[in-house]
Amino acid sequence: MASYESVLDSIGATPLLRLTRAAQGLRPRVYVKPEWQNPGGSVKDRAALAMLRRAEAEGALRPGGTVVEVTSGNTGIGLALAAAHLGYRAVIFTSSTIAREKRAQLTAYGAELRLVDAFVPKDHPDSVHAQGQRFAEETPGAWLAHQYDNPANPAAHYATTGPEIWADTDGAVTHFVATVGTGGTISGTGRYLKEVSGGRVRVTGADPLTSAYSGGDGSQKYIEGAGHFVHPEAARDLWPRSLDTGVIDDYAPVDDQSAIDAIRRLARTEGILAGGSSGVALAAALRLAEHLTEEDTVVVLLPDSGRAYLSTYFDDDWLAANGFTAPTAEGGPGEPTV
Ligand code: PMP
Repeated sequence: MASYESVLDSIGATPLLRLTRAAQGLRPRVYVKPEWQNPGGSVKDRAALAMLRRAEAEGALRPGGTVVEVTSGNTGIGLALAAAHLGYRAVIFTSSTIAREKRAQLTAYGAELRLVDAFVPKDHPDSVHAQGQRFAEETPGAWLAHQYDNPANPAAHYATTGPEIWADTDGAVTHFVATVGTGGTISGTGRYLKEVSGGRVRVTGADPLTSAYSGGDGSQKYIEGAGHFVHPEAARDLWPRSLDTGVIDDYAPVDDQSAIDAIRRLARTEGILAGGSSGVALAAALRLAEHLTEEDTVVVLLPDSGRAYLSTYFDDDWLAANGFTAPTAEGGPGEPTV
């Protein structure tokens, strides 16, 4: 319970939720961290605010300035809400394939959207990244957040997400599982948890099957926000500086169908509605938990809610049209517990 002086002060301090039915038969305790409880609806509010505050402190962003970012949606939403609150213009470069609900949320905050072809490779002069960078260079007073290479991004998680997990498990956490987009979440949170536990906490990077982080071919994917989708030969050059590879003990590749199955089961058996990248993290965590003991406590970070994906992963017609199957045994009301 809290009262905040502004919406920005309400970013962070998300709870942990213990899985009961979805983790049935597993020995460790499994908790999820629902990051959609942030005001913009995702984990990226944390990094967005931290990057913006650092830019202000360093003088890179001044009153009347323009906030620019290239994003799969959620970082843009965090920046757009902070820009709206603080009186900056926000211009967000994103691909035309991101969830319509995220685009609508960006414009609701008053951000200007520049939609760019998602299928231009990241290293091409017309890529969404190159266009965002060019716009920022050519616009007076513009500041490009650059989440992939901005140290304030992992620092936000070292300062907030990590300490929250440690405190909320009373130091019992043994395993942390998260997806890797910019790497900010896993690097900052993982670094903190390893330091505070004297190196005991194991960190698993849950990764879409085709993502280059875990050795995939970098081909296109459905799941938004997680993974590294560049040609394997270019992958190393385009590795984000926000990602601290030393923190990740292992990667767990997860195919899209398993991720979709995981969030659909989570909704039906726990009443927790999570997004696609959450499915990647959850599927990896439940697989990992099969090999752990009663002494272990697994924390899974769920980046955003299923609300933006009701017309995709939660829609049987969309699944069929895109080569997926709707799970037939998803679970549902079980035996009454009282
Ligand atoms: N899932 C979603 C839905 C996201 O928007 C992001 C951010 N790109 C991530 C996962 C990965 O988070 P991070 O950038 O901190 O690695």
